[in-house]
Parts: sequence; structure tokens; C-alpha cells
Amino acid sequence: MTSLSDLPLRANLVGKEPYGAPQDPVPVSLNVNENTHPLPEDVIEDIIASLGDAVRGVNRYPDREFMGLREDLARYLGHGLTAEQLWAANGSNEVLQQVLQAFGGPGRSLLSFTPTYSMYPLLAGGTDTEWIPVARPNDYALTAELVVEALEEHKPSIAILCGPNNPTGTSLDLDVVKAAYDAFDGILVVDEAYHEFDSSHESALSLLPGRPRLLVSRTMSKAFAFAGVRLGYLAADAAVVDALRLVRLPYHLSALTQAAASAALRHSAEMLRAVDDIRLQRDRLAAELEGMGYLVHPSGANFILVGGFASPEATFEALRAEGILIRNLSIDGHLRLTAGTADETTQLIEAIRALGPGGAKA
Ligand SMILES: *Cc1c(COP(=O)(O)O)cnc(C)c1O
Repeated sequence: MTSLSDLPLRANLVGKEPYGAPQDPVPVSLNVNENTHPLPEDVIEDIIASLGDAVRGVNRYPDREFMGLREDLARYLGHGLTAEQLWAANGSNEVLQQVLQAFGGPGRSLLSFTPTYSMYPLLAGGTDTEWIPVARPNDYALTAELVVEALEEHKPSIAILCGPNNPTGTSLDLDVVKAAYDAFDGILVVDEAYHEFDSSHESALSLLPGRPRLLVSRTMSKAFAFAGVRLGYLAADAAVVDALRLVRLPYHLSALTQAAASAALRHSAEMLRAVDDIRLQRDRLAAELEGMGYLVHPSGANFILVGGFASPEATFEALRAEGILIRNLSIDGHLRLTAGTADETTQLIEAIRALGPGGAKA
């Protein structure tokens, strides 16, 4: 077998690692911020019926412009949006890749504020776009001053503000988004993958009118409990959608994906029913860990970033041995914990408590 280093790989991919959150079949899987609450049974049945109808038509290519789904997404988001302002792909990762294909590329750059979502630099590498990481302050919160200074200095082609931010949970204020938009001429993406969990911050969707370079991305993978379907989407000016249509593969959204997503959106209130409980579990997890002396960063998402572990690696392994999978993102002394069901969250709390102060030692 040939090894990777023997192949004529593109220079900017040499030495890179693929996205690699472990996929272990453990009883309590809390490492990729999925919604672990089961889907409501009546919604499952409606999705199955819709898939059945779609299967009867799969000898034909699906609607390339998926207008039905775009109308459903526009209706779900509200804010006066129309189907022409909506776009979707197989996960918001693919939407973001299309944004980079259309607006990034050789000689162009992508800026974001780290620590942030680990896919941004990978998407930059995959499209030959220069990656510009700018460090967040100690509390991870972005301010208008910090963001404006970075954008004026680097003048990136694209900037992504992730709010709430993965992996820190930090919410994003709309005045930061407004200031960022005015500070440079490039494409500004607000990644709202976790927005539905954030009860105290308004969506950047309200800023879209009059801001044609502002893109707001969302996903059905997290709050909607639909990670396995792969449906991410974006709202922006209709001209931005026209740009993305230049780079998408024809028929990129399968008929089955379109049918499943539209069926789920017909039941959006029920699909989002678990969000309140997940917030409750997140806050319980945070309070318990704070009580044990850990440093819990404020979170508007369905996970918390926690500091104070003597050895994140040893704690990760000790919990894995108990059948609990969490995320070690190589942030000094920190681990990221997703809020699960009440039972999963209790198991996680008790397993960490059993490790004693500071968690497992190396
Ligand atoms: C999970 C996540 C996404 C979305 O992933 P898809 O499953 O591809 O929709 C996007 N951005 C952030 C910050 C995430 O954490």
C-alpha cells in the first residue's frame, strides 16, 4: 500500500489531519453536541411516510433548486425571509464549503476568532484559502473593538463569527456583528448552529435587510435532533444564493434529504420540544461542576467548556472507560461536555464526581 506522503498531494494539504471526533459506540455519547433526546414518535411516522413517497420518485433526479424545502426553511425562520434568500446543503459544513468555494480560494483569506469550530481551518485548507486565526480574550467573549481591529488589520475575504461559539459556548452580541460588517468589505458569516439553545441573544437574521454581504448559517443537526440527515442552511441576500448556485454540485440535496427535512419542519415546534430540557440539563451540569470547584464558561449552547482538570486526557480516558464519551479539544486543562438527557447528564456528573478533585490524574 502507498502511504499518504508518497502521493502528489496539494501542498496545503500536506501534514493535515482529517476532522476526527472519535466515533465510539459507547452508552453515553456526549462528544459532538448532538441532541440526544429521542425524536417524537408521531414525527418519526410522518417522516417515514414522506420518505416512502419520495422513494417512488427516485428514478428521477431531485428538484435541483429544492424550492419546496427553501420555502419551508423561510417559513421556519420568519423575519420576512423568502425562499430566494434561503440555501441548504448536506450539513452547514457543506454550506460553509460552498461559501469558501464562491468567495474564498487562492489569494483570498478566511478569518475567525479562536478557539472556534475546528472545521473552519479545514474548509480553508480544502479550498486553498489562507486561514487567519485571531485569538479570543481570556473570557472568550468578542467585543466590537477587538473584532473591528482584527478585520481592519487583516482585511479578510471572509470572516466567520460563531455564536454561540463552539467549543466555548460564548454567545454573540448583535452590536459585534453590526460593527464587524461595517469594518471590512468581505463576506461576513454568522454561524448560528446553536442559536435555538440561546434564550438571551437575538439572531443575526434581524440584521439581514440592507446588508448584502451578511450570511447567517444554521443547521438541523443540533437543536432539531437531525444530525444523521445532514441538513444545514443559510439565509442571505438572494444574490449570495445565486453565487452559491455557481459552485454547488447539481442535485446535491437528495430527494430523501429534501423529503425528510420538509417533513421535520412541518413539526418544528415538536422537534424543538427537547430544547428547554437540554438547557435545564446544561445549567444543572454547570452548577454541579462549579460546586466541585471546576471553572465553567458561560454557555448559550447545548454544551459547556469546563476548565480545572489536572489532566484532560486522563479524565477523558477515565470517562471513556465508564462508557461516557466527551470531547478533549487540547485547550489547557479544559474539556467540552454536551448536555444529554437527564439520565445521561446525571451519569456524567456522578462519573466526574467519582474521579475526585481535578478529575483523573495523568
Ligand atoms: C455542529 C456545527 C455545525 C454544523 O454541522 P452540520 O452537521 O454540518 O450542519 C456548524 N457549525 C458549528 C459551529 C458546529 O458546531
